[in-house]
Amino acid sequence: MSSGTKKDYYEILEVPRNASEEEIKRAYRRLARKYHPDLNKDPSAQEKFKEINEAYQVLSDPEKRRLYDMYGHAAFQGAGGQQGGEGYTTTGVGFGDIEDILNEFMKGFGFDTIFEKATRSRKRERRRPSRGEDVYQNVEITLEEAYKGTTVTIPVSREVRCEVCKGYGYDPSRGEKVCHTCGGSGQVIQRSFILTISQTCPTCHGEGAIREPCRACRGRGTVSKREEIKVRIPPGVDDGSKLVVEGKGNAGIYGGPTGNLYIIVKLKPHRIFERKGKDLYVDVNITYPEAVLGTTLEVPTIEGKSIKVNIPPGTSHGSTIKVEGYGMPSLKGDKKGDLYVRVNIDIPKLSFLNKMFKNGRKIEKILKELEEEIPKPERIRER
Ligand SMILES: [Zn+2]
Ligand SMILES: [Zn+2]
Repeated sequence: MSSGTKKDYYEILEVPRNASEEEIKRAYRRLARKYHPDLNKDPSAQEKFKEINEAYQVLSDPEKRRLYDMYGHAAFQGAGGQQGGEGYTTTGVGFGDIEDILNEFMKGFGFDTIFEKATRSRKRERRRPSRGEDVYQNVEITLEEAYKGTTVTIPVSREVRCEVCKGYGYDPSRGEKVCHTCGGSGQVIQRSFILTISQTCPTCHGEGAIREPCRACRGRGTVSKREEIKVRIPPGVDDGSKLVVEGKGNAGIYGGPTGNLYIIVKLKPHRIFERKGKDLYVDVNITYPEAVLGTTLEVPTIEGKSIKVNIPPGTSHGSTIKVEGYGMPSLKGDKKGDLYVRVNIDIPKLSFLNKMFKNGRKIEKILKELEEEIPKPERIRER
């Protein structure tokens, strides 16, 4: 056949030669719906559909349409153009097989996204081994335990490999059947409106085969297990420290590696010590005379012992006295932190002094004199 026998594009789309772009588009949609091979099972529908698309590709493009109006089909028979046996030109306009046309058809109407998805899922999805999820578990310990290190037994719920099916989710000895939904291709064609979308088969999830699910794990390949896991907590851990126990997370899927268990340390607030990094702070109360004259205090340590701390004469309220090496150990193994003793001066009430001294007037008088004599300190303390 020669190009002379080719049908006129305007005739194919059943529009007049002066049809507007909108009219052409409408006509195309109507005819494409009518002859779409998924909707029209007539053997000639596919050819008709190709014809409609070819005509639309030319007439919907202003430049191609202009050339076609001037030269007819000859406009698209460039150098090296091969005439197809059925009278379709394959040069210049670029028509491929029916699949390409269907894809183009979808794209042309703004279905690019759907188109992409369909293309992606067309590849048969294989079950790939994947690593199991990590499991997180909090553990609360005392400051003393953080100081010495401890061993805790933590209840952990995690997914472990099903030993019946070795994690594969099906019983390999029972064989497999071809999926009745997709016939083994792993894909199903979904039709709606005029679109044809290839999707992963919901029955076999792209496997193409149905396997008898493992009865022990209902096909998941893993089973929930509550375990008591012993964890060694090293000396020096802090609030929020994260410890990893490798291979004690959830089991991997399809033979993938097991995830990790992460232990998040929470420190219980301590009755007397405040922790700042490696250092510890303890607050002590001394009397006014002790502050003036100086004293020695027994101060508890985190080890559970006590040390003597010298409070020098003339210690101000809020002073801190550093006791080196009595803080927390370092996780990294370098030197221990320090203990800071914060001094609080308990000021006696005047009523107490009045009761204490029979002639209460006298102590008040002495204080007044002192108040007048003692040089005023710098009011704002520098750090
Ligand atoms: Zn299937
Ligand atoms: Zn199983």
